[in-house]
Formats: sequence, C-alpha cells, structure tokens
Amino acid sequence: MKKYDVVIVGAGPGGLRCAEVLSESGKSVLLLEKNSEIGPKVCAGGITRKCFEFLGKPNDIIGRSFDDIIFKKFGAQTRLDSGEKFVHTVKRDVLGKWQLKRLQGSSVEVRTGVEVKKISDECIITGENERIEYEYLVGADGSSSIVRKYLGLKTIFIGLAFHYIIPANKRFENIEIFFDSKLFYSWYSWIFPHDDYVSVGFGCFPKTMTVKKAKKNLDDWLEKMKIDVAEGEFEAHMINCDYRGFHFGNVFLIGDAAGFASGFTGEGIYQALVSGDDVARIILDKKHKPRLIKEILLERRIHHAMLLVVMISGIFRDTIFSLIMWSTKNKYVARFLLSVLT
Ligand SMILES: Cc1cc2nc3c(=O)[nH]c(=O)nc-3n(C[C@H](O)[C@H](O)[C@H](O)COP(=O)(O)OP(=O)(O)OC[C@H]3O[C@@H](n4cnc5c(N)ncnc54)[C@H](O)[C@@H]3O)c2cc1C
Repeated sequence: MKKYDVVIVGAGPGGLRCAEVLSESGKSVLLLEKNSEIGPKVCAGGITRKCFEFLGKPNDIIGRSFDDIIFKKFGAQTRLDSGEKFVHTVKRDVLGKWQLKRLQGSSVEVRTGVEVKKISDECIITGENERIEYEYLVGADGSSSIVRKYLGLKTIFIGLAFHYIIPANKRFENIEIFFDSKLFYSWYSWIFPHDDYVSVGFGCFPKTMTVKKAKKNLDDWLEKMKIDVAEGEFEAHMINCDYRGFHFGNVFLIGDAAGFASGFTGEGIYQALVSGDDVARIILDKKHKPRLIKEILLERRIHHAMLLVVMISGIFRDTIFSLIMWSTKNKYVARFLLSVLT
C-alpha cells in the first residue's frame, strides 16, 4: 500500500490552494480528483475584492470586472458603487487550470479520474479498489463530501443553486441582484456577465422552498423579465453552509466540505481558498493560528444573522429589501455593505 504524508480529496479551489501551500514543503502530497478534467464546476464565477487580492490580482484570468452592483426590484433599482473594480467574473475551468499550473514542477502528485469511494482511519480506497495510506487527510471534496460523511457530521443547512448559462448579450453589461420576496423568499436572483456568456440564476434552501417551486419561480421571473433562455444550458448544484468544525485530529475539512460557504450571498470560492491555505499551514506547523478561517467564520456569522432577519421578517421582507436597496445611497451604509459583502 502506498503512503503519503497528505492526501487531499478534491481539486476545486480549496484542494488546489491547499496543495500549492504544501508543495513548498518537503511533504509527499497526493491530490485526487474524481473528474477527468480539473476546473469545471457549476458556479456563477463571481469573485469579490478580497478573493481577487488573495489570488494576487491575476488580471489575465479575469473575464469581466465591475465597479458597481445593481440592486433591483420590479419597478425600482439602485446602484452599490465602490468607485473601483471590486467584483470580477472568472470561468471556473480557467481558474482551475491556472491553479493547477502553479503546481507544475512541484512534488505534488495530481491524479484525475480517481474517485475516493471509502475511507478508514488509516487509508482511503479508490473506485479502482486501490488503497492509499495517509498521515493527514484533507476533505476538499465539495458539498457532498465523502470525508465529511466519514466524520459522521450532519448536513442540514444546505442550499441548492441553479442557473442558466446564456450567450453574451449587450443587455447584460452589469452585475445585477434582483429581490422579490414572493418569488425568491429570502434570497435573490442574479445576472453575472462573463466575456462570452451570462450566468442567470437563483438559489434556495430546500428546507424552506421545494426545488420544484424554486425552479418554477425562476422560470416565471425570467418570463416576466423577458430573458430568453431557450439557447441556455441549465445547471444545478448544492452549496453547503452547515459549518460544524474543520479540524478533527489528522482529518481536515475545507471549503464546501466544511460548510464554509455563505448562506446569505452563496459565495464559496474565497472561503475554499483561504481555508485550504490555513489548513495546509496547520499541517506544516501545529502552532499555526488559522487567522483567515477565523475571519471567514466571523463574516459568516454576520451574513447568517442578516439572513435570519430577512427570513423571519415575513410580510415585512419586501420592506427590508427596499431599505437595503435605498440605504446604498448613503455612503457610510454603502461602505459597510461593501466591507461585509465583498
Ligand atoms: C449555481 C452556483 C453558483 C455559484 N456562484 C458562486 C459565485 O459566483 N462565487 C462564489 O464564490 N461561489 C459561488 N458558488 C459556490 C462555489 O461554487 C463553491 O463554494 C466552491 O466551488 C467551493 O469550492 P471547493 O473547493 O470547496 O469545492 P468544489 O469546487 O465543489 O470542488 C470539489 C472537488 O472535489 C471533487 N470530488 C468530490 N468528491 C470526490 C471524491 N469522492 N473523490 C475525488 N474527488 C471528489 C469534485 O469533482 C470537485 O472537483 C456557486 C455555487 C453554485 C451551485
């Protein structure tokens, strides 16, 4: 049986970042990805200011950059303006390939098309029945994580997000967030333009709105907005927001596997990257203080408090959305929203 110091399950942004930090050490690292290609993932591909900075401002992989976000309701709209580019869109396959390239020439062994099927206290077993021993195991395997299941963690607070990928269209030149409490309850629909396509989508918590209803509401909204998705491709995926810890002896969880994604904004790429980074540093130095994980946990608490207020506000929800929209006209509120949301 082959043995590695660290086995990372899943080569999304979290697993790739974890591998990159470990690649600078002398440890033997195996990164396993079940898909044959690294990168593609159902995702709107929006990255915020802090994520862009964390990645080292890689302008060459960015599709579009925006200095404002338009908040809309039927019959009204406001603009959250930062005066500088603070939200960007990136194609997930481009981001994945860019991260993978940073591992080239390092000692990290990357294997694609290998699915981890079973886990025991000493080893993982692949779909090909290969047993691989580990000293440390990192679950970077997204919202249906097998590593999380092995740890016996419950997953209740989980969302489902779906979108249509439609051809680029001059009508969609801005990032748009659309509120409507009847159609989208506590969430919103989005329009995220990339250079050659647009992601138009919506997310829900299946515990509060059935998936069937959520899909129907999105389709009703698209019809009202006269957004033609006939040429579009429909995709859906879970987003795990149910954080229950990340460090379990010699086993770690990062990104969506840990439930780090925000239940309020659906953002999860940044959380995956920084949790992957901190976990790698803990593996290298037990005394490392996971400052970035602490920060995302604090931000997550603020997001979830905001989500709770919107969720329990019932008939006042539309008023709250209106307040959020109009308060962006105040520069102090706008600054607060920008710091908390991006
Ligand atoms: C519709 C939609 C829109 C979204 N839009 C945004 C957005 O605009 N901005 C944003 O920040 N976030 C967005 N998210 C969330 C974001 O996609 C995730 O939070 C992010 O991808 C999490 O990264 P990760 O590395 O933790 O996991 P993932 O990106 O899910 O990567 C996990 C990897 O593990 C692999 N894997 C899984 N199981 C196994 C196994 N058993 N063996 C081997 N490999 C395995 C998978 O194939 C995958 O490659 C969106 C999500 C959805 C569904």
